[in-house]
Amino acid sequence: MTEMEERAEGASTAQERADLHSHTTYSDGALTPEQLVRKAKSSGITTLGITDHDNVGALAEAAECGRSVGVDIIPGLELSATLGEKDVHILAYLFDPSNERLLEYLEFFRRERLKRAERMVKKLNQLSIPVTLEAVLDHAGIGSVGRPHVASALLAGGYISNYHEAFDRYIGVGAPAYEKKYQVSPQEAVRLVALAGGVSFFAHPGKYTTEADLVQLINVGLDGIEVVHPSHSPTMQQHYRRLAQQYFLLESGGSDFHGGRKNDDTVFGAYTVPMRVVEEMRRRCFRSSR
Ligand SMILES: [Zn+2]
Ligand SMILES: [Zn+2]
Repeated sequence: MTEMEERAEGASTAQERADLHSHTTYSDGALTPEQLVRKAKSSGITTLGITDHDNVGALAEAAECGRSVGVDIIPGLELSATLGEKDVHILAYLFDPSNERLLEYLEFFRRERLKRAERMVKKLNQLSIPVTLEAVLDHAGIGSVGRPHVASALLAGGYISNYHEAFDRYIGVGAPAYEKKYQVSPQEAVRLVALAGGVSFFAHPGKYTTEADLVQLINVGLDGIEVVHPSHSPTMQQHYRRLAQQYFLLESGGSDFHGGRKNDDTVFGAYTVPMRVVEEMRRRCFRSSR
């Protein structure tokens, strides 16, 4: 496949277009589930995977809105895991969003995130920065609290002059108010998804992983690799597609749309995958459930 064709597949203009990676206000997205689904509709997306970080709160509302506007919603989730010293993301699809074990885990993880935010605020206070946990939680809204919200609270309080300074001076790895995340292994994440009847994919491998990390992750039993992503050049897409084929894995893809700060509207509708990708995922779930 040439680079041009490669790009054409990533930016399909066929009638049916699936974007399998997006975020709402239930994690760090700027749009509510309903706003996101409506935006998908107007962007020409016919199948939308909603993949909030460690949170499934958006799925019911999104599915209802999807039914009324004519967008097929794929239940999704972007799980945080740790590989060695690195944070990695595992995308899950087509699981049962009411699976008890999964919900218990997400609730546990939510509490751990809250405790971590508390510890960072305490450290910042010790550094004579009077930011409060309430201010941090205000920035998180209904979503899972994380370092971006601590950074936003620091910026809003006038303690720093730009968003990145929060990470460089205070909460980045090795900085004085940094706190480690609760650590979940990729194996645990993949197992949790499988027990809830879903499939798991390694998210945006090109963003931060080496070939060795990828092989290690493949060995924990992932079902596939995210091939189409704004951080992947056409050559990288080709590379990950080949790897998926080599290891008999499925592929997925999407825009990782957040709205607002993280990326602009131009990505939504520009990073889609053909419908066969969704059909293969469904087949894999069906086969595993027998
Ligand atoms: Zn991610
Ligand atoms: Zn994402």
